[in-house]
Amino acid sequence: AKAAGRGKHCFFEPSMHSEATDRQLLENDLRGAIERDELSVVYQPIVRAAGEEMAGFEALVRWQHPKRGAISPAQFIPLAEECGMIGKVGEWVLHQALHAVRQWPEDVRVAVNLSPIQFNDPRITEIVDAALTASGVKPSRLELEITEGVFLADSDITDATFTRLKDLGVRLVLDDFGTGYSSLGYLKKAPFDKIKIDQSFVRGAASRSNRNAAIIRAIVTLAESLDMDTVAEGVETHDDLQLMRDLGVSQIQGFIFGRPSPLEEASLLASSRSVE
Ligand code: C2E
Ligand code: CA
Ligand code: CA
Ligand code: CA
Repeated sequence: AKAAGRGKHCFFEPSMHSEATDRQLLENDLRGAIERDELSVVYQPIVRAAGEEMAGFEALVRWQHPKRGAISPAQFIPLAEECGMIGKVGEWVLHQALHAVRQWPEDVRVAVNLSPIQFNDPRITEIVDAALTASGVKPSRLELEITEGVFLADSDITDATFTRLKDLGVRLVLDDFGTGYSSLGYLKKAPFDKIKIDQSFVRGAASRSNRNAAIIRAIVTLAESLDMDTVAEGVETHDDLQLMRDLGVSQIQGFIFGRPSPLEEASLLASSRSVE
């Protein structure tokens, strides 16, 4: 075995077996997961708030480990980021997602999560461009979901990447909005098309104090004045859905309209054009 990644835990020697941590074993397993066909992508509906029309689907990666069963992306994505595998995993997800969106009506988009490490890879524009060309998908049908983590890197590189991705014609979404810090400065300079309001504000908002509602209202006002759409993530109940509509959120994502599901199921939903 050899070190293929840049992180310090990313190697594995059989002789180290006794001292290898669980984490190292998992990293080693992740290395061949794509080749062994253990990764898959599921798609969660994003619905226009006004009616119940399908706006798109978020692509979410899954790992079915042969011995451990399903491992959450919240667990293995950070691992992949730390040991230099996120580029490969992310590019694979991107290709799957672009293949998926081809089977859906023209006005249904696909949203793909881009790790800050992928975003700040100098080749990212070429990677996205090549994937779009290979799939023949119109760039405006692809949304890239980015978190504030991208702004921790060198700002000249980050600024240039935003410009180049916008020039490609893809849509940029600021994910997990409200959970980081000084988001407002980023909003001023980065060309986002949409803000995704984090689940921590959304879930249970209708039954909690009206502080959540006040924050969501402020985010919607801000987004509208910057000409950006909003999507509320984590909507599970009718009360929360009604609240999001009352607050003027433009799109809804959450278990109320569907859990992430395999492509065949998502495609049925996409072609029925609405979740009803
Ligand atoms: P995220 O990007 O914030 O994705 C939304 C997560 O919220 C998903 O969890 C989704 O299943 C979950 N969710 C959506 N609606 C609801 C709801 O109504 N209730 C509840 N309880 N949960 C809801 P998931 O699929 O486990 O993904 C977790 C995180 O893993 C994602 O958070 C994202 O940060 C990361 N991730 C997943 N797939 C990818 C990927 O392909 N690339 C990268 N870089 N990260 C990914
Ligand atoms: Ca996301
Ligand atoms: Ca999110
Ligand atoms: Ca998140």
